[in-house]
Amino acid sequence: MTIGTPLWHPGEIPAALLDALKGAKRPLILTHIYPDGDALGSAVAIHRLLEELGATPQTILTHPVPQKLSFIDHDQVAEVLDGEPTPQQIEMAQSCDLVVVVDTSAPDRLGHMRKVVEDCGAPRVCIDHHLDGSVDFFDQIWCESGSPSTGNLVLEVIQSLGCELSQKSAESIFVAIATDTGWFRYSNSGSVAYRYAASLVESGVDPEPIFQRIFQSFSLERTQLLGDLLASIEAPEQNRIVYSVLTEPMRRKRGVDLEDLDGFVDSLGQIAGCEIVFLVVEVGPGRYKVSLRSRGDFSVHPIATRFDGGGHAKAAGCRLEGSEEQVIENLLGQCRLTLDAGPVE
Ligand code: AMP
Ligand code: MN
Ligand code: MN
Repeated sequence: MTIGTPLWHPGEIPAALLDALKGAKRPLILTHIYPDGDALGSAVAIHRLLEELGATPQTILTHPVPQKLSFIDHDQVAEVLDGEPTPQQIEMAQSCDLVVVVDTSAPDRLGHMRKVVEDCGAPRVCIDHHLDGSVDFFDQIWCESGSPSTGNLVLEVIQSLGCELSQKSAESIFVAIATDTGWFRYSNSGSVAYRYAASLVESGVDPEPIFQRIFQSFSLERTQLLGDLLASIEAPEQNRIVYSVLTEPMRRKRGVDLEDLDGFVDSLGQIAGCEIVFLVVEVGPGRYKVSLRSRGDFSVHPIATRFDGGGHAKAAGCRLEGSEEQVIENLLGQCRLTLDAGPVE
Protein backbone atom coordinates (compact mmCIF):
# COMPACT_ATOMS: atom_id res chain seq x y z
CA MET A 1 0.00 0.00 0.00
CA THR A 2 1.25 3.48 -0.78
CA ILE A 3 0.72 6.18 1.78
CA GLY A 4 -1.07 9.01 0.03
CA THR A 5 -1.58 8.97 -3.72
CA PRO A 6 -0.05 12.16 -5.11
CA LEU A 7 -0.91 11.20 -8.66
CA TRP A 8 -4.55 10.47 -8.01
CA HIS A 9 -6.96 11.31 -10.83
CA PRO A 10 -10.69 10.90 -10.58
CA GLY A 11 -11.89 7.54 -11.89
CA GLU A 12 -15.07 7.01 -13.82
CA ILE A 13 -18.30 7.89 -12.05
CA PRO A 14 -20.75 4.97 -12.29
CA ALA A 15 -23.32 5.96 -14.94
CA ALA A 16 -26.09 4.38 -12.84
CA LEU A 17 -25.17 6.67 -9.94
CA LEU A 18 -25.54 9.74 -12.17
CA ASP A 19 -28.85 8.37 -13.50
CA ALA A 20 -30.12 7.80 -9.96
CA LEU A 21 -29.30 11.42 -9.05
CA LYS A 22 -31.02 12.70 -12.20
CA GLY A 23 -34.14 10.63 -11.60
CA ALA A 24 -34.69 11.36 -7.89
CA LYS A 25 -37.68 13.44 -6.86
CA ARG A 26 -37.43 13.26 -3.06
CA PRO A 27 -33.82 12.37 -2.23
CA LEU A 28 -32.60 12.07 1.36
CA ILE A 29 -29.00 13.27 1.83
CA LEU A 30 -26.95 11.95 4.75
CA THR A 31 -23.36 12.01 5.93
CA HIS A 32 -21.32 10.75 8.86
CA ILE A 33 -21.90 11.37 12.54
CA TYR A 34 -20.12 14.44 13.94
CA PRO A 35 -19.98 16.05 10.48
CA ASP A 36 -16.85 17.95 9.49
CA GLY A 37 -16.22 20.50 6.72
CA ASP A 38 -16.07 17.84 4.01
CA ALA A 39 -19.24 16.14 5.23
CA LEU A 40 -21.25 19.36 5.41
CA GLY A 41 -19.74 20.95 2.28
CA SER A 42 -20.39 17.81 0.22
CA ALA A 43 -23.92 17.36 1.58
CA VAL A 44 -25.05 20.92 0.88
CA ALA A 45 -23.42 20.96 -2.59
CA ILE A 46 -25.32 17.75 -3.46
CA HIS A 47 -28.49 19.25 -1.97
CA ARG A 48 -28.23 22.29 -4.27
CA LEU A 49 -27.38 20.11 -7.27
CA LEU A 50 -30.47 17.96 -6.72
CA GLU A 51 -32.62 21.07 -6.33
CA GLU A 52 -31.26 22.34 -9.63
CA LEU A 53 -32.21 19.00 -11.17
CA GLY A 54 -35.80 19.61 -10.04
CA ALA A 55 -35.91 17.47 -6.90
CA THR A 56 -37.03 18.36 -3.38
CA PRO A 57 -34.12 17.09 -1.30
CA GLN A 58 -33.90 16.69 2.46
CA THR A 59 -30.52 16.78 4.23
CA ILE A 60 -30.28 15.46 7.79
CA LEU A 61 -27.23 15.66 10.05
CA THR A 62 -27.03 13.49 13.16
CA HIS A 63 -25.03 16.08 15.12
CA PRO A 64 -24.41 19.83 14.95
CA VAL A 65 -21.49 21.06 12.87
CA PRO A 66 -18.78 23.19 14.48
CA GLN A 67 -20.10 26.76 14.58
CA LYS A 68 -17.10 28.04 12.58
CA LEU A 69 -18.14 25.83 9.62
CA SER A 70 -21.87 26.51 9.60
CA PHE A 71 -21.44 29.38 7.09
CA ILE A 72 -20.97 26.88 4.25
CA ASP A 73 -24.61 25.85 4.62
CA HIS A 74 -25.49 29.31 3.28
CA ASP A 75 -29.27 28.72 3.20
CA GLN A 76 -29.38 26.43 6.26
CA VAL A 77 -30.82 23.55 4.33
CA ALA A 78 -29.39 20.89 6.66
CA GLU A 79 -31.61 19.75 9.53
CA VAL A 80 -29.78 18.67 12.67
CA LEU A 81 -31.17 15.86 14.81
CA ASP A 82 -31.57 16.43 18.51
CA GLY A 83 -30.68 12.86 19.51
CA GLU A 84 -32.98 10.32 17.83
CA PRO A 85 -35.08 11.41 14.82
CA THR A 86 -38.63 12.48 15.73
CA PRO A 87 -41.60 10.50 14.32
CA GLN A 88 -42.19 13.35 11.83
CA GLN A 89 -38.57 13.27 10.71
CA ILE A 90 -38.75 9.49 10.31
CA GLU A 91 -41.97 9.76 8.29
CA MET A 92 -40.52 12.48 6.05
CA ALA A 93 -37.24 10.63 5.57
CA GLN A 94 -38.94 7.34 4.81
CA SER A 95 -40.95 8.86 2.00
CA CYS A 96 -37.70 9.47 0.07
CA ASP A 97 -37.10 7.82 -3.30
CA LEU A 98 -33.27 7.82 -3.07
CA VAL A 99 -30.74 7.90 -0.22
CA VAL A 100 -27.54 9.79 -1.04
CA VAL A 101 -24.70 9.25 1.45
CA VAL A 102 -21.58 11.42 1.24
CA ASP A 103 -18.18 11.30 2.99
CA THR A 104 -18.70 7.88 4.56
CA SER A 105 -19.47 4.42 3.28
CA ALA A 106 -19.67 2.77 6.70
CA PRO A 107 -23.33 2.19 7.72
CA ASP A 108 -22.43 2.53 11.43
CA ARG A 109 -21.24 6.06 10.76
CA LEU A 110 -24.81 7.05 9.85
CA GLY A 111 -25.62 6.95 13.56
CA HIS A 112 -29.35 7.24 14.32
CA MET A 113 -30.14 7.54 10.59
CA ARG A 114 -28.88 4.04 9.81
CA LYS A 115 -32.14 2.39 10.86
CA VAL A 116 -34.21 4.92 8.90
CA VAL A 117 -32.17 4.10 5.78
CA GLU A 118 -32.56 0.37 6.33
CA ASP A 119 -36.32 0.64 6.85
CA CYS A 120 -37.15 2.99 3.98
CA GLY A 121 -36.49 0.65 1.05
CA ALA A 122 -35.27 3.40 -1.30
CA PRO A 123 -32.15 2.75 -3.41
CA ARG A 124 -28.92 3.95 -1.81
CA VAL A 125 -26.02 5.68 -3.53
CA CYS A 126 -22.74 6.80 -1.99
CA ILE A 127 -19.91 9.21 -2.85
CA ASP A 128 -16.89 8.80 -0.57
CA HIS A 129 -13.10 8.64 -0.21
CA HIS A 130 -12.54 6.37 2.80
CA LEU A 131 -10.58 3.13 2.84
CA ASP A 132 -13.23 1.13 4.62
CA GLY A 133 -16.91 0.92 4.15
CA SER A 134 -19.58 -1.49 3.19
CA VAL A 135 -19.87 -1.54 -0.59
CA ASP A 136 -22.72 -4.06 -0.33
CA PHE A 137 -24.84 -1.61 1.64
CA PHE A 138 -25.19 0.59 -1.45
CA ASP A 139 -26.79 0.10 -4.85
CA GLN A 140 -24.25 2.43 -6.43
CA ILE A 141 -21.02 3.67 -4.90
CA TRP A 142 -18.26 5.95 -6.13
CA CYS A 143 -15.51 5.64 -3.55
CA GLU A 144 -12.06 7.03 -4.42
CA SER A 145 -9.73 6.47 -1.48
CA GLY A 146 -6.97 8.48 -3.20
CA SER A 147 -9.15 11.57 -3.39
CA PRO A 148 -8.26 14.46 -1.06
CA SER A 149 -11.89 14.91 -0.07
CA THR A 150 -15.44 13.97 -0.96
CA GLY A 151 -16.13 17.60 -1.91
CA ASN A 152 -14.04 17.43 -5.09
CA LEU A 153 -15.82 14.20 -6.06
CA VAL A 154 -19.12 16.07 -5.74
CA LEU A 155 -17.63 18.76 -7.99
CA GLU A 156 -16.85 16.06 -10.57
CA VAL A 157 -20.45 14.81 -10.31
CA ILE A 158 -21.82 18.35 -10.83
CA GLN A 159 -19.61 18.79 -13.89
CA SER A 160 -20.46 15.34 -15.29
CA LEU A 161 -24.14 16.19 -15.11
CA GLY A 162 -23.44 19.43 -17.00
CA CYS A 163 -24.85 21.53 -14.16
CA GLU A 164 -23.86 25.05 -13.15
CA LEU A 165 -21.58 25.41 -10.13
CA SER A 166 -23.15 28.14 -7.99
CA GLN A 167 -20.98 30.56 -5.99
CA LYS A 168 -22.32 29.01 -2.80
CA SER A 169 -21.42 25.48 -3.84
CA ALA A 170 -17.99 26.61 -5.03
CA GLU A 171 -17.38 27.94 -1.51
CA SER A 172 -18.80 24.85 0.22
CA ILE A 173 -16.65 22.56 -1.92
CA PHE A 174 -13.55 24.71 -1.38
CA VAL A 175 -14.05 24.37 2.38
CA ALA A 176 -14.60 20.60 2.03
CA ILE A 177 -11.24 20.22 0.26
CA ALA A 178 -9.41 22.75 2.44
CA THR A 179 -10.50 21.22 5.75
CA ASP A 180 -9.83 17.58 4.79
CA THR A 181 -6.32 18.49 3.62
CA GLY A 182 -5.51 20.70 6.65
CA TRP A 183 -5.52 23.73 4.36
CA PHE A 184 -3.64 21.89 1.58
CA ARG A 185 -0.80 20.79 3.89
CA TYR A 186 -1.36 17.03 4.22
CA SER A 187 -0.05 14.49 1.75
CA ASN A 188 -3.61 13.67 0.65
CA SER A 189 -3.58 17.03 -1.17
CA GLY A 190 -1.36 15.56 -3.85
CA SER A 191 -1.33 17.98 -6.73
CA VAL A 192 -5.04 17.71 -7.42
CA ALA A 193 -6.26 19.55 -4.32
CA TYR A 194 -4.28 22.57 -5.48
CA ARG A 195 -5.77 22.24 -8.95
CA TYR A 196 -9.31 22.05 -7.64
CA ALA A 197 -8.58 24.99 -5.34
CA ALA A 198 -7.18 27.05 -8.22
CA SER A 199 -10.28 26.46 -10.34
CA LEU A 200 -12.58 27.32 -7.41
CA VAL A 201 -10.63 30.51 -6.65
CA GLU A 202 -10.81 31.42 -10.34
CA SER A 203 -14.57 30.94 -10.14
CA GLY A 204 -14.79 33.52 -7.33
CA VAL A 205 -13.98 31.85 -4.00
CA ASP A 206 -11.94 34.14 -1.72
CA PRO A 207 -9.69 31.94 0.50
CA GLU A 208 -8.40 34.54 2.97
CA PRO A 209 -11.65 35.28 4.84
CA ILE A 210 -12.39 31.54 4.83
CA PHE A 211 -9.02 30.83 6.48
CA GLN A 212 -9.75 33.52 9.07
CA ARG A 213 -13.15 32.04 9.85
CA ILE A 214 -11.98 28.47 10.20
CA PHE A 215 -8.48 28.71 11.63
CA GLN A 216 -8.23 32.09 13.31
CA SER A 217 -11.56 32.59 15.03
CA PHE A 218 -11.25 30.38 18.11
CA SER A 219 -12.62 31.37 21.49
CA LEU A 220 -10.22 32.28 24.27
CA GLU A 221 -11.47 29.24 26.22
CA ARG A 222 -10.73 26.83 23.37
CA THR A 223 -7.22 28.22 23.07
CA GLN A 224 -6.73 27.85 26.84
CA LEU A 225 -8.01 24.27 26.67
CA LEU A 226 -5.50 23.52 23.90
CA GLY A 227 -2.84 24.90 26.26
CA ASP A 228 -4.00 22.50 29.00
CA LEU A 229 -3.86 19.63 26.52
CA LEU A 230 -0.37 20.54 25.28
CA ALA A 231 0.84 20.83 28.88
CA SER A 232 -0.12 17.21 29.55
CA ILE A 233 1.39 15.78 26.34
CA GLU A 234 3.27 12.45 26.51
CA ALA A 235 5.95 11.40 24.01
CA PRO A 236 7.17 7.83 24.56
CA GLU A 237 9.56 5.90 22.26
CA GLN A 238 11.91 8.89 21.85
CA ASN A 239 8.98 11.09 20.77
CA ARG A 240 7.98 8.66 18.01
CA ILE A 241 4.56 8.36 19.62
CA VAL A 242 2.91 11.55 20.85
CA TYR A 243 -0.42 11.59 22.65
CA SER A 244 -2.57 13.47 25.07
CA VAL A 245 -5.87 12.90 26.88
CA LEU A 246 -8.66 15.43 27.12
CA THR A 247 -10.88 14.53 30.06
CA GLU A 248 -14.42 15.73 30.74
CA PRO A 249 -13.29 17.81 33.78
CA MET A 250 -10.62 19.56 31.65
CA ARG A 251 -13.20 20.38 28.98
CA ARG A 252 -15.90 21.42 31.46
CA LYS A 253 -13.51 23.71 33.32
CA ARG A 254 -13.05 25.71 30.13
CA GLY A 255 -16.69 25.35 28.95
CA VAL A 256 -15.77 24.13 25.45
CA ASP A 257 -18.16 21.98 23.37
CA LEU A 258 -17.08 18.61 21.95
CA GLU A 259 -17.57 19.79 18.37
CA ASP A 260 -15.08 22.62 18.92
CA LEU A 261 -12.13 20.26 19.45
CA ASP A 262 -11.57 19.89 15.73
CA GLY A 263 -7.85 20.41 14.96
CA PHE A 264 -6.51 19.61 18.44
CA VAL A 265 -4.87 16.39 17.28
CA ASP A 266 -2.91 18.29 14.62
CA SER A 267 -1.47 20.62 17.26
CA LEU A 268 -0.03 17.59 19.07
CA GLY A 269 1.94 16.45 16.04
CA GLN A 270 4.37 19.35 15.92
CA ILE A 271 7.16 17.58 17.81
CA ALA A 272 10.24 16.63 15.81
CA GLY A 273 10.64 12.88 15.33
CA CYS A 274 6.99 12.13 15.95
CA GLU A 275 5.57 9.35 13.75
CA ILE A 276 2.19 8.55 15.29
CA VAL A 277 -0.05 11.01 17.09
CA PHE A 278 -3.21 10.26 18.95
CA LEU A 279 -5.69 12.28 20.92
CA VAL A 280 -8.08 10.62 23.35
CA VAL A 281 -11.20 12.62 24.18
CA GLU A 282 -13.48 11.48 26.98
CA VAL A 283 -17.03 11.73 25.61
CA GLY A 284 -18.89 10.13 28.53
CA PRO A 285 -18.14 8.04 31.61
CA GLY A 286 -15.61 5.42 30.45
CA ARG A 287 -16.19 6.29 26.78
CA TYR A 288 -13.49 7.77 24.56
CA LYS A 289 -13.22 9.12 21.02
CA VAL A 290 -9.76 8.58 19.56
CA SER A 291 -8.17 10.52 16.69
CA LEU A 292 -5.05 9.02 15.13
CA ARG A 293 -2.64 10.73 12.73
CA SER A 294 0.48 9.53 10.94
CA ARG A 295 3.27 12.03 10.47
CA GLY A 296 5.47 9.70 8.50
CA ASP A 297 5.39 6.46 6.57
CA PHE A 298 3.24 4.41 8.94
CA SER A 299 -0.45 3.82 8.35
CA VAL A 300 -2.63 4.45 11.39
CA HIS A 301 -5.62 2.88 9.64
CA PRO A 302 -4.91 -0.66 10.96
CA ILE A 303 -4.72 0.71 14.51
CA ALA A 304 -8.18 2.26 14.14
CA THR A 305 -9.67 -0.85 12.50
CA ARG A 306 -8.19 -3.00 15.31
CA PHE A 307 -10.68 -1.13 17.54
CA ASP A 308 -13.55 -1.24 14.99
CA GLY A 309 -12.86 2.27 13.69
CA GLY A 310 -11.54 3.36 10.30
CA GLY A 311 -10.65 6.32 8.13
CA HIS A 312 -7.55 6.85 6.00
CA ALA A 313 -3.88 5.80 6.13
CA LYS A 314 -2.79 9.09 7.66
CA ALA A 315 -5.94 10.10 9.56
CA ALA A 316 -8.13 7.56 11.28
CA GLY A 317 -10.31 7.25 14.34
CA CYS A 318 -12.08 4.86 16.65
CA ARG A 319 -14.06 4.71 19.87
CA LEU A 320 -12.94 2.86 22.98
CA GLU A 321 -14.50 2.04 26.31
CA GLY A 322 -12.88 1.28 29.66
CA SER A 323 -10.65 3.05 32.12
CA GLU A 324 -8.42 5.83 30.84
CA GLU A 325 -5.33 3.79 31.74
CA GLN A 326 -6.59 0.72 29.88
CA VAL A 327 -7.52 2.73 26.80
CA ILE A 328 -4.06 4.36 26.68
CA GLU A 329 -2.33 1.04 27.24
CA ASN A 330 -4.30 -0.61 24.42
CA LEU A 331 -3.58 2.23 22.02
CA LEU A 332 0.11 2.41 22.92
CA GLY A 333 0.37 -1.36 22.43
CA GLN A 334 -1.00 -1.12 18.89
CA CYS A 335 1.16 1.94 18.08
CA ARG A 336 4.29 0.08 19.21
CA LEU A 337 3.34 -2.94 17.10
CA THR A 338 2.89 -0.64 14.11
CA LEU A 339 6.30 0.97 14.64
CA ASP A 340 7.94 -2.45 15.16
CA ALA A 341 6.43 -3.74 11.91
CA GLY A 342 8.22 -0.98 10.00
CA PRO A 343 6.94 1.63 7.55
CA VAL A 344 4.41 0.86 4.87
CA GLU A 345 6.09 0.42 1.48
P1 AMP B 1 -11.11 12.43 13.18
O1 AMP B 1 -9.94 12.00 13.98
O2 AMP B 1 -12.40 12.37 13.92
O3 AMP B 1 -10.86 13.74 12.47
O4 AMP B 1 -11.26 11.36 12.02
C1 AMP B 1 -10.21 11.07 11.15
C2 AMP B 1 -10.70 10.12 10.06
O5 AMP B 1 -11.06 8.87 10.64
C3 AMP B 1 -11.95 10.61 9.34
O6 AMP B 1 -11.83 10.24 7.99
C4 AMP B 1 -13.07 9.87 10.00
O7 AMP B 1 -14.12 9.66 9.09
C5 AMP B 1 -12.42 8.56 10.40
N1 AMP B 1 -13.00 8.09 11.68
C6 AMP B 1 -12.97 8.74 12.86
N2 AMP B 1 -13.57 8.02 13.83
C7 AMP B 1 -14.01 6.88 13.24
C8 AMP B 1 -14.72 5.73 13.69
N3 AMP B 1 -15.11 5.60 14.97
N4 AMP B 1 -14.99 4.76 12.78
C9 AMP B 1 -14.59 4.88 11.50
N5 AMP B 1 -13.92 5.93 11.01
C10 AMP B 1 -13.63 6.93 11.85
MN1 MN C 1 -15.51 13.72 7.03
MN1 MN D 1 -13.74 13.49 3.91
